[in-house]
Amino acid sequence: LAPAYIRTIAPYQPGKPIAELAREMQLNEADIVKLASNENPLGISPKARAAMLQAMDELARYPDGNGFALKSALAKKFGVGLGQIVLGNGSNDILELAARTFLTPADSVVYSQYSFAVYPLATQAVGARGIEVRAVDFGHDLDAMLAAIEPSTKLVFIANPNNPTGTMCRPGDLVEFMEKCPATVLVVLDEAYTEYLPAEKRSDSLALQRQFPNLIISRTLSKAYGLAGLRIGFAIAAPEVADLMNRVRQPFNVNSLAQAAAVAALDDLDYLRETVRVNRAGMEQITSAFVRLGIPFIPSYGNFITFHVGDGPALNQFMLQRGVIIRPLASYGMRDSLRVSIGLTGENDRFIAVLEEALDG
Ligand code: PMP
Repeated sequence: LAPAYIRTIAPYQPGKPIAELAREMQLNEADIVKLASNENPLGISPKARAAMLQAMDELARYPDGNGFALKSALAKKFGVGLGQIVLGNGSNDILELAARTFLTPADSVVYSQYSFAVYPLATQAVGARGIEVRAVDFGHDLDAMLAAIEPSTKLVFIANPNNPTGTMCRPGDLVEFMEKCPATVLVVLDEAYTEYLPAEKRSDSLALQRQFPNLIISRTLSKAYGLAGLRIGFAIAAPEVADLMNRVRQPFNVNSLAQAAAVAALDDLDYLRETVRVNRAGMEQITSAFVRLGIPFIPSYGNFITFHVGDGPALNQFMLQRGVIIRPLASYGMRDSLRVSIGLTGENDRFIAVLEEALDG
């Protein structure tokens, strides 16, 4: 039915939904802890919730196809022009838009081993060729990625911090990468988890974007802003790049509730601060348990952490049976590893308790 490059796409594997596990394992939904999709454990920001309730009265109308209010809020927050912004139905939409706008089946795309699953997916969906570059210490090898660029390469995907490994690129290394990267190659810098990076580790990607028009910054409101279910992402790019992506974008790809909630969430700095605080505390809680239990892990700069257990699928199954949903990484070629999202203290406790039980058994 479909061309070979579509038939060979490996399906994206989302975290198992709570309702599905409850039915499978005959558990109460209330007893299940989901730490599988790097969601914000605080729930939605009260400001975003209020804005959304108000926007409900306008649902008979189409959303603003140009997202004027949301783009204005983003432009103000990040000091960019409205014409530099592309809104996405989640940042997955941004990644896919970049592929659909700039790639043909004759082109190639460079990305790292152990990086986000959507990069190969978006590449393959347009029939382009993925060039996967071997990771170093589970992170991006930027020098090797530069060396892997071919004449046919039109796009590079870099996740910083990276999912699923939680590694980060040093700011100076990213600058050097952009300096050496050919201007004809577009670089998508996926900063889905940037808010979790301590300020001194964070790249000044906006300054980098001003300097290098071939840099596209991708961000999301799904993680630190707590709006994963509403699907809001955005790109900041050179006006000519953003213009092309906006031509390919579906006109109403971000719905009205999402736009209203996003404007309010961007402004809720208390929520953002609390998110980062809770994440830091939870990261400390989980990593100290790993140390105590002798479980090796990859130090993480995101809101999740990947640890090595030997037989990942077996421990994952053990956890599922006890109502703890985390993420197996076999589809990333990391069969002996699992990824857990950082939750609230009680949720992290549940995860640690089941982990200890598995080690005892
Ligand atoms: N980039 C990275 C690195 C991610 O981990 C994710 C979420 N899993 C996304 C992009 C996409 O998130 P969303 O579509 O919800 O913005």
